[in-house]
Amino acid sequence: MKPTIGVLALQGDVREHFHALAACDAEPVSVRRESELESVDALVLPGGESTAISKLLEVFGLLDPLRARLRAGMPAFGSCAGMILLASEVLDTRPDAQSLSGIDMTVRRNAFGRQVDSFETDLDFTGLDDPIRAVFIRAPWVERAGAGVEVLARVPHRPRPGTVVAEGPSVGDPQDAAGRIVAVRQGSVIATSFHPEVTGDLRVHRLFVDSVRAAVGAGT
Ligand code: GLN
Repeated sequence: MKPTIGVLALQGDVREHFHALAACDAEPVSVRRESELESVDALVLPGGESTAISKLLEVFGLLDPLRARLRAGMPAFGSCAGMILLASEVLDTRPDAQSLSGIDMTVRRNAFGRQVDSFETDLDFTGLDDPIRAVFIRAPWVERAGAGVEVLARVPHRPRPGTVVAEGPSVGDPQDAAGRIVAVRQGSVIATSFHPEVTGDLRVHRLFVDSVRAAVGAGT
């Protein structure tokens, strides 16, 4: 069974998620309007700029329909800005930014700070046998995960060999973030601070597509 998985296509790295989903044997479709949202089995919220996507969700009349589908149990996966949108509470965002409460968590936007805008490292990720290469770009972290939220990955306490800080003079600063939560799951909603869609490693998308297949199978 090929699940139909929407990619919220208002702003951000939509194309990368399309490619990853197609490679995982799902049927990706873009979602910009309510009728498109109604037709999908699940939704990916891409990386990009969460405040811009929030504004566009309002403009396109998608905010309430999307909240309703998440409340009704639609599986979803958000990377970076997508994680921010899926949170129940967001720190360091604009006062008018909306969130979707897909996961009971508090997320801090741009949490890794200005000096270390972007970095990549390997992370242990629950459910994956080997560490995953994680690319962080002005990424959020999870400051509070609710009781029903499973933590899937944290920033390691020691720099992994091969940690690359792309910007900023103070190499090693990601360690200020040691132990921070950067991937979570609540039911069939998954969120990562980083961008699995940009590395060519399909394992997180595969986990998600498998959970969508299970959810769709259980519902029919
Ligand atoms: N900093 C961005 C935001 O606030 C997220 C960055 C990203 O998705 N790469 O939405």
